[in-house]
Amino acid sequence: MKEYDVIVVGAGNGGLVAAATTAKAGYKTLLLEKHNIPGGCATSFIRGRFEFEPSLHELCAEDVCDDLPSSKKILADLGVKVDLLHETTLYRTICKDPECSYDVVMHAGRENFLNDIEAAVPGSREGVANLFDLVDNISDAQLYMNTGKNGPKINPFVLMSKYGDFMRTASHSTEEVEKALGISEKARSIINTYWGYLGVPTDDLAALHFISLLVSYCVVKPTMPYHRSHEISLALAQAFEKLGGEMRYNSEVTRFLFDKKGKAIGVVANGEELYAKKIISNVIPNNVINRSEEKKLPTRFRKMANARKFGMSFVTVYLGLDRTKEELGIEDYSVFITRHRNARVQFDTRADCGYYVVNCLNVPLPDSTPKGTSTLFFTIPYIPGDFPENLTAREYKEFKNSVAEKYIKDYEETMGISIRPYIEEIAIASPVTFARYLSTPEGAIYGYASEGWDNIVGRIAMEKMEFNIPNLYFCGGHHTRGDGFPSGYITGDMTARQVLKDLEKEGK
Ligand SMILES: Cc1cc2nc3c(=O)[nH]c(=O)nc-3n(C[C@H](O)[C@H](O)[C@H](O)COP(=O)(O)OP(=O)(O)OC[C@H]3O[C@@H](n4cnc5c(N)ncnc54)[C@H](O)[C@@H]3O)c2cc1C
Repeated sequence: MKEYDVIVVGAGNGGLVAAATTAKAGYKTLLLEKHNIPGGCATSFIRGRFEFEPSLHELCAEDVCDDLPSSKKILADLGVKVDLLHETTLYRTICKDPECSYDVVMHAGRENFLNDIEAAVPGSREGVANLFDLVDNISDAQLYMNTGKNGPKINPFVLMSKYGDFMRTASHSTEEVEKALGISEKARSIINTYWGYLGVPTDDLAALHFISLLVSYCVVKPTMPYHRSHEISLALAQAFEKLGGEMRYNSEVTRFLFDKKGKAIGVVANGEELYAKKIISNVIPNNVINRSEEKKLPTRFRKMANARKFGMSFVTVYLGLDRTKEELGIEDYSVFITRHRNARVQFDTRADCGYYVVNCLNVPLPDSTPKGTSTLFFTIPYIPGDFPENLTAREYKEFKNSVAEKYIKDYEETMGISIRPYIEEIAIASPVTFARYLSTPEGAIYGYASEGWDNIVGRIAMEKMEFNIPNLYFCGGHHTRGDGFPSGYITGDMTARQVLKDLEKEGK
């Protein structure tokens, strides 16, 4: 029997940061990953002469407020050096709604974004500027609450008197806040393009969540690593080992162990029982439950996991093309294509080219593919229930191919270009692929849907009550801050800091 201070389960973004942080503090840390490589979603794969980015469209590496944790600060603190390329264009958004069609390119930088929206929808600048301004008060409130967690208690009267904008927006959807600020329907449609990155249409998406994402992309500019997101994961794994951590690949945790009082004490991987003072799970709570003796887990924890809805998954199509982007006529990195102006209708028609995004990595990174070639990456939203069940292997393949065919055709028609004759490699991933690779229920890649009652405001407020298993902690896209690379890194960092505090307290 070997005893560790900390065992981290899963080497996704959250698990890697959490493990490196506890190792850096000098605690004996073991990181267990079921695959033979680190990263989870943050990885890469090779087909023929192409190395594809499977997930990352844009990394929001910095936060709008210097004092809040950001991916860039977290990686730097752990000694991880990754070259991140800043993008100047956020997205091109093409809406084919006959009653509200547009084809607009939105640029990074607050002033640029405001100029773009004013040019596209005259008179909308002020409302959107007001939306951006809300973020200052929201960030200050977040900072107050972050500090409060480590020291003084959060006082509701302070929140109400000093952080009025935060309190006024906290319980509202994005659309409600935008309407209150007088932003027109067309302007809302253009600025709400990013809803798919959070997996919930803006009529049900917490305003705080969306505004923070939009402003952080706009103000500090999105970034991309030069060598796919795998580069960051690899650098984190190396940093962890350099800091004295023990990494075990090919080590799926099949059991979480608890003592008689329900305290987490260890895990089982490859048939070996491994014990630690603290366990950090980068694995979604539902998978902890089905790998545990249920009666040892608090009822509230089980009920919360079961009450939550799994978030979005995707069908993704990766194309390696034997022509350059110039030869094909591709000019933009991220192109969002929609059929209707309204995000809810886009969501409801997702199976019929209602909303999808196509990325050409050669635009920000011209030499990301061999000379004379380029890649395209289609992302098409799917939610649990969309994917047909009980398919035979042949039907599954046919279904995936038919989805790819439909979207490639729609993209060609919309952009007025031809790509099919130039496809050298094609790979199609579905919710089934993500379920198998990440082990998430329904292939969820965004953890739980961050909508309605279960939004990030409520999750942060209820964290201590909901995650109430002694010695078991969580981090990753399924946790309090919702999905995304930054959320993974930030929850990994915050959870590890909580573990360090608890270890220190118990040590004394
Ligand atoms: C197609 C796609 C596009 C995306 N686009 C973006 C984007 O543009 N920007 C952005 O910020 N985010 C994006 N995301 C979301 C982002 O990738 C995820 O939210 C984030 O990477 C999740 O990190 P995580 O820490 O939850 O770990 P995960 O990536 O979920 O990794 C969990 C790890 O745990 C391992 N594991 C699971 N079960 C076990 C077990 N029992 N034992 C041991 N190991 C186990 C898995 O193998 C995996 O390595 C995208 C995701 C996808 C799939």
